Amino acid sequence: AGPTAPVCQAASTKPPCKPAVFVPVDRSPEIEEARLKLPILAEEQVIMEAISENPIVIICGETGSGKTTQVPQFLYEAGYASPDGAIGITEPRRVAAVSMSQRVAKEMNLSHRVVSYQIRYEGNVSDETQIKFMTDGVLLKEIQKDFLLSKYKVIIIDEAHERSMYTDILIGLLSRIVPLRAKKGRPLKLIVMSATLRVEDFTENKRLFSVTPPIIQVDARQFPVTIHFNKKTPLDDYSGECFRKVCKIHRMLPPGGILVFLTGQAEVHSLCRRLRKAFPFQKNNTAGDDDKEESMEEIRKFKKSRKRKKVTTLPKIDLDSYSVVPVDEGDEDRDAETDDDIAGSDLDLDLGDGDSEADEKSDSSLPLYVLPLYSLLAPEKQAKVFSAPPPGTRLCVVATNVAETSLTIPGIKYVVDCGKVKKRFYDKITGVSSFRVTWISQASANQRAGRAGRTEPGHCYRLYSSAVFMDFEKFSAPEITKRPVEDLILQMKALNIEKVINFPFPTPPPAEALAAAEELLIALGALKEPPMTGRLKQQLAAKLSCPISPLGRIMATFPVAPRYGKMLALSRQHDCLPYTITIVSAMTVRELFEEFDRPAVSEEETAKLKEKKARLLQMQKLWAGQGTMQKLGDLMVMLGAVGACEYAGCTRKFCEENGLRYKAMLEIRRLRGQLTTAVNSVCTDAGLYVDPKMKPPTEAQVTYLRQIVLAGLGDHVARRVQAEELLDDKWKNAYKTALLDDPVFIHPSSVLFKQLPEFVVYQEIVETTKMYMKGVSAVEPEWIPALLPPYCHFGKPLENPPPSYCPETGRIRCHRPSVFYRVSWQLPAVEV
Ligand code: ADP
Ligand code: MG
Repeated sequence: AGPTAPVCQAASTKPPCKPAVFVPVDRSPEIEEARLKLPILAEEQVIMEAISENPIVIICGETGSGKTTQVPQFLYEAGYASPDGAIGITEPRRVAAVSMSQRVAKEMNLSHRVVSYQIRYEGNVSDETQIKFMTDGVLLKEIQKDFLLSKYKVIIIDEAHERSMYTDILIGLLSRIVPLRAKKGRPLKLIVMSATLRVEDFTENKRLFSVTPPIIQVDARQFPVTIHFNKKTPLDDYSGECFRKVCKIHRMLPPGGILVFLTGQAEVHSLCRRLRKAFPFQKNNTAGDDDKEESMEEIRKFKKSRKRKKVTTLPKIDLDSYSVVPVDEGDEDRDAETDDDIAGSDLDLDLGDGDSEADEKSDSSLPLYVLPLYSLLAPEKQAKVFSAPPPGTRLCVVATNVAETSLTIPGIKYVVDCGKVKKRFYDKITGVSSFRVTWISQASANQRAGRAGRTEPGHCYRLYSSAVFMDFEKFSAPEITKRPVEDLILQMKALNIEKVINFPFPTPPPAEALAAAEELLIALGALKEPPMTGRLKQQLAAKLSCPISPLGRIMATFPVAPRYGKMLALSRQHDCLPYTITIVSAMTVRELFEEFDRPAVSEEETAKLKEKKARLLQMQKLWAGQGTMQKLGDLMVMLGAVGACEYAGCTRKFCEENGLRYKAMLEIRRLRGQLTTAVNSVCTDAGLYVDPKMKPPTEAQVTYLRQIVLAGLGDHVARRVQAEELLDDKWKNAYKTALLDDPVFIHPSSVLFKQLPEFVVYQEIVETTKMYMKGVSAVEPEWIPALLPPYCHFGKPLENPPPSYCPETGRIRCHRPSVFYRVSWQLPAVEV
């Protein structure tokens, strides 16, 4: 179903409205030429007229049509930016915010002081900034400080089709801010940009916009992309299939970059290694002529060597496994002949028989310039994909989903799509998450295919059949409907939106997720608990519209999850703040340690991985501390790792030698700085500063830290199942939690894995083969009632009290009757 809103196509009959000002931009001739090729340039006037006449405009256009890079420039030239009002652009991904700001600065020949970016950990915004790229989360935080966004004249919400949670909320909030700004006489323009035409959730939602905004569609100058479906699906070994496919393309098809979509970092690396091995390439051959000569020699040598062993190293191609159907007709498998330029003779080559003609014809001798691309990759490595590959090579980018819409990689002619994506799935109520590899949506598959047709006709190889494609869901569901929303609700409450349920969400989150979030926030003390009077129905309604508490306000100022915000809010005791800041930063950044349990391509590599893993385990043991410090468990390891790394100057070398992820360590450093600033702004007298080389905490401090962590992770308490309680074998070494009926276990990577403390708190539960707790610390049972009264209440003794029930000391019952906390009445030593 197409949109019902008016679609502006031709310029209106009115005389073009002249911009009040015209701000010249000094672009280089090459940039001007490249710009002119972008489809959006033809629509500049339509777009600018629509913006001048409407407060809200929607722009739809295929990825690569020039929305992100050009629309800010149109606005800038038309005088929409000034020192007292900038153009703000939000991106759901950090990668895009950084690289797009750099690209636009370069195109406009302006410094990054004028075209800047801000992401959670860093930014280069200055007082001259006029075009500001940022992540959607950053803008949401700004709204909290300045609801009317008075620093901006225009807000562009980019990649709205991704329906990221913060993007959705921003559109809801801006639908209210825009009219408010108009009333104040300082109009704010809102531009929503989307890669697909599916914008009904925005346009047809009467609660969102009272007047349906115009939709401008930019006709993409998309070259035809021939879709090749696999006949057989599903393939378990899609990574291997990708390898075979890339080899085949590289050996047989005309020049043009290859873009492979895989699901995760480990897969990306493993495919990169396999490809580099199959088509070796000496890097650094772009520098000078000498280098070039050398590289040509390299290529010649390589050609020779390939000739000798080519038959054995390359897999035989099974031509029958593909059927070829043109785009838009993908409803059935067809064995039809194709009209495209790769059918026929080239493809008919049989590579398996060592036919020398085949060898001459194929350009298999070209080295393959293989680059990985995923969001955790260091930015300077990410940026490599934008520059031309070294002469005499073919570019092959092996990417995760980041390459689907956010980034346009130049020169791609072939796309290999495994059809899968790795997503984090959450249980809406318990927040238990698991990473699962699932099929993508049809919309995603088409986006991926589209990446092949940017500069010339291309080809997309789908490693699944068209029948499977037809079973894909049409679009993936908006993020907000699929994850816990406590962070979002806290942010909204901080904006004094009390009846969250009445908020104009483009797609509202499920009622049970909203209720779970409010309940958690009440338990954390972030919301004022409603009086428990009146009928049950009224009580429930009251629970869903609690105002924020003073503690909640403090928690909301920290750019971290509410649970962590609470830890920070409690840490102004016993000089614990620097440590809590570090622990919270480490938990927020996640994945501090390198993953060495990945499949290796050679025995040599296997041995290397093993060695590295042993070294990491040894270091973790060291970082876990001694004596009672060890009870802080994995969080002590995080603290120790960050401390050690900073002590060594946070160098790449130190990280590599000790199994730490360098990028994570840099992010932790930045987040520590940012949280320190946030803390100082809340408690102006704290005078806190980060000494990267913090000294280790004392034993007493570690005990306080354990209590602080417990207070923050309140609903994440687990009690070890006692021998007498064992229901069956599946409960061996298991823990019971307040939220789940199933057994959960301490993750084998935890330093507490073997110790099995009686009570623990966990950072998160991740489901793989079992439910595993990660980020585990031991806590003392007597702390629980003092620190977490909302999670405990005193009940009558059970008929069959569990053996841990202790009549002298009393007992605490959690909300779930299945979990009993045995406690003594001694009050803990912590001041809360
Ligand atoms: P859209 O937002 O519509 O997807 P973009 O504005 O991101 O399109 O990209 C427009 C064009 O600009 C792309 O086709 C690409 O060729 C070019 N481009 C974008 N970023 C870079 C970059 N960092 N380096 C070189 N070219 C780029
Ligand atoms: Mg874009």
